[in-house]
Amino acid sequence: MGRKKRRKSKAEWTITDWEEWLWKIFSRYIRLRDCIKTTGTTDWGRCVTCNRKYSFKNLQAGHFIPGRTRAILFDETCVHAQCYRCNCKLDGAWPAYYRFMQQEYGQEKVEKLVDLYLVDCELSPDWFEQSYQYYEWAVDEMSRTGQLVGE
Ligand SMILES: [Zn+2]
Repeated sequence: MGRKKRRKSKAEWTITDWEEWLWKIFSRYIRLRDCIKTTGTTDWGRCVTCNRKYSFKNLQAGHFIPGRTRAILFDETCVHAQCYRCNCKLDGAWPAYYRFMQQEYGQEKVEKLVDLYLVDCELSPDWFEQSYQYYEWAVDEMSRTGQLVGE
């Protein structure tokens, strides 16, 4: 591995830097949550769309609605553990994802999420800091106890 890029200080971060930073812990949170939900372990989980079992490190956090727009990028109900094939090769496998969302959350919630796709929202550094702290805590807690948090 080569030398890492010089780290910018947080004061210089763009919204993309903040998003990348939070995404790392958020993705861990989502995969851990769904491992516990689907297998009762922290090491294995089922892909939300093909239902096959994968190890934690072979799962990705995949969006129900493609495009990663700001209002839904970090919406927990929009993101679930997915395998590489479903998330990348099959572009999110949206027909199966759509059916899952209907069953899991109900049609009304699905419609609301689709509407949110078009909403732009401003996220502040404070919001990112607070969210990061929460997800860092939640990941620790779930790893330690093997139980879901906040439900
Ligand atoms: Zn899959």
